[in-house]
Parts: sequence; structure tokens; C-alpha cells
Amino acid sequence: MPRHPGGLASLLIVSRFTGPDRDAALDQQILLHELTHGLTTRIAGGPNVIGMSGSAQAQGLGEGFGDWYALALLSSSGRGPSGVYGMVGWPGYHFLKDLVTPPFEYAFEDNYYYGLRRYPYSTDRAKSPLTLSDIDPGQYHDDAVPMSPFWVSINNYAIANGSSAVAVDEIHFVGEVWALALWNVRAKLLEALGLEYGNEMTLQLVTNSLLSLSQSPTFIDTRDALLMAGRARTGGGYVCAIWNGFAERGLGDSAVTPSEGSTSGVREDFSLPPGCTQSSQCPDLVVQSIETPALAAGQSATVTFRLRNWVLRPQSVLGVTADDKHMLVECFEENHTKELRG
Ligand SMILES: [Zn+2]
Repeated sequence: MPRHPGGLASLLIVSRFTGPDRDAALDQQILLHELTHGLTTRIAGGPNVIGMSGSAQAQGLGEGFGDWYALALLSSSGRGPSGVYGMVGWPGYHFLKDLVTPPFEYAFEDNYYYGLRRYPYSTDRAKSPLTLSDIDPGQYHDDAVPMSPFWVSINNYAIANGSSAVAVDEIHFVGEVWALALWNVRAKLLEALGLEYGNEMTLQLVTNSLLSLSQSPTFIDTRDALLMAGRARTGGGYVCAIWNGFAERGLGDSAVTPSEGSTSGVREDFSLPPGCTQSSQCPDLVVQSIETPALAAGQSATVTFRLRNWVLRPQSVLGVTADDKHMLVECFEENHTKELRG
């Protein structure tokens, strides 16, 4: 899709896929992916600029948003996030099979499992293993999970013909990692809010987050924009759910991405910030706010905090203990919301 700033008409052109001659305009995922480019390029960076441009990270994020919006908008309430979702199934059948100079000689038939990405989208790491470091050419490693035979064949074809395998910082590959991170975030919100309302809420928060992005954001900038949107929309109630989703794909509290011009030098991290590391006995309660007054040496103070139950099930707090790093909350499911003072 041509990337125009706001104020200029865009034109969406989708073509027929080489191989089985299938028209991409009949595939809803492709249309929604391309239309999402229209959304993100116009919002990111403000008016009169082409957002999500200028670097592999930013363009990769744009590709990831495209995949994620297509998946989320086409999801139905009966299909949970741990299922397997290929991106672009129908037009992928025998894709490029008819490439003749030199002959490709590969007939891709796992199109409804993998789609046309390296892996299907799923929260299940045994099927969809990518994490943040996989955007870094210096850190990418072959996972135990087999990559789509389509990409194995494409890479072999390229190498056999004097070219090189597709680089892991290719923007659609970078996009896979971002779409997957958002897929995991969505899964956490679905757990809390139910499949339909959770999906709607995630779509709203992700869309809100686009409004604060620069023209060429990094993965960390974009993660933080969604956390900020979650805090603004919910008063902090969903922030730990969002953190949990990101942390599962290596975008945890201490993760680092390089400046937007590169995807080399990533540091992935799977940890949560201190406010989200409450007891596993009570995983559904999150700390909404902690106000700690400045203390002189030897002085003590009262700390007030609020616990919000953001899941659909009622819960009751039995007790809270804390040390200098962690807070332990014990609870059982009964009453809806508790405020503690102590
Ligand atoms: Zn795209």
C-alpha cells in the first residue's frame, strides 16, 4: 500500500499470487494488514509525516501491527489465543511454485498451518517460538521448533543461486516478533476480561497507543506506549496484564532495543517490574498505585495502596506482607474489590 501522510488519498493495490493464481483481494487478512498500514503510517509521528518509516525497527513494527490487527479483527469468541493462526493461508497454496528461472520446484501445502510467515501465531511457544532477540541478526538462532518449509525452501533456493538467505531483520520477519508480543498481551487481557470484551479492549488500547508514537519508534517505545495507554484507560488496572504478555516474548522490564536505525544489540528480558511481581497465590490482583512519602533516616510512614480485581471472578484478600523487593498478597475468590490500609 502506498504510504502517504495525512491529507493525501491513498490507493490500496493487492495483486494475484504467483503459483495458484489466487487473488489477494479475496483474503481478508491481507486487506486488513494493508489497511492497517494506512492507519499506522498516518497516526505515528503526527500529521504530514509517513509514520512507521525510516528504519528496520519502525517498519517492522508497522508490519507487526498489520498482522496483529488482521488476526484480532477476524478472531471469534470461540477461538482462544493458544490455537494456531496462520497469516495468509488461502493465497499461500503452492506460492511461487511456478517460478521458472531457475525453477523453484517446491509446492507449499502447509499454507493453512503456517500461513506465509515463518511460524504461525500462537501463545504456545512450542509452535510459535520467536522472542525479541530474534530480530537481532547477531542473536537469532534456529529454534527447536521447525520453521515453515516454505521459508526453508526459499532460503535454500536463494543460496543455491548465489544469493543469501532472507535476513532476520527483514521487516516482515521483524514484524512477526512484534505481532506475537501483541498476541501474548491480548491473551492476558482475554484471560482477565473474557474473549469478546478482552478483544475489544485490546484493540482499543493498541489503537490508543498509536497516537503517542513518534514517526520512527523502537520496540521499547512502542511497548511503553501501550503500557501508557493501558494506564490512562484503566487507571493502571490492566498494566500488569500487558507487562505479562510483553515479558513472555522478551520485552520485559529490563529489555533494551537499540536506536531505531538498527535491530542489532537487542537485550531481551523476561522479568516483570516490581509492581507486577506479586504472589503467585493471587495472580489476578494487581497493585494499582503505591504512594510512598519521602522518608528521613529512621523515620517510618504509613503506605496506602489499592488492589483492584480486574478479572471477572470475585476475590477476597486474606493478608498482605512485604519486604524490600516483593509484596505477597494472599487471597481467595469471594468479594469483588478490596481496599487495604496498613
Ligand atoms: Zn505489510
